[in-house]
Amino acid sequence: MTTTTTPERYRSLGDHTWQDQAVCHPSEYNPVDPDVFFPGPDETAKIATALSLCAQCPVRLVCLDAALEGGETHGIRGGLTEEERETLHEKIAKRLDYGRVNATIAGRDIHLTSAERRAVVLAGYRQGVSVERLARLLKISEDHALKLYRETSRKIRNRELQQEARGGSAAAAGTSLRADDFGTAA
Ligand code: SF4
Repeated sequence: MTTTTTPERYRSLGDHTWQDQAVCHPSEYNPVDPDVFFPGPDETAKIATALSLCAQCPVRLVCLDAALEGGETHGIRGGLTEEERETLHEKIAKRLDYGRVNATIAGRDIHLTSAERRAVVLAGYRQGVSVERLARLLKISEDHALKLYRETSRKIRNRELQQEARGGSAAAAGTSLRADDFGTAA
């Protein structure tokens, strides 16, 4: 899954302000029954009501993202029933959204999958992001960040050696090491 959307589309971790715009957010002027979002399997009227409300909701996609990232498998969220979200919950762990990777490198604090965290390390390495900044971006220790850069350097170098052994050109694969702080650390 890849996107080219702007970083602003991503919800910052811990930001719940979007819920103020939720159609299901009950208020004096919007007396929504939260129970309709947790229907039984045969409660078709409740399901239809909830889906109808979601269809009008301006934060539907953010709601769906939050439900998937938070592992919320119960109830209707983001316009999808529990059953409709099942496969998405399975897929989310494999998500590799380069828009999220770029947004993180730019300093946004957003949800990342394991694959996206690895992509942040690789992008940071290639862009010369410092160990200290990588540690801040990924909320890890500087020692851990340095270890990740060393592993990345080693993987790139091993790939180049394998390509050379096969008679291929490492440069053609775009994996050449740059003279940076980590080339000698691996
Ligand atoms: S998409 Fe549906 S469940 Fe999500 S906030 Fe909107 S109305 Fe509520």
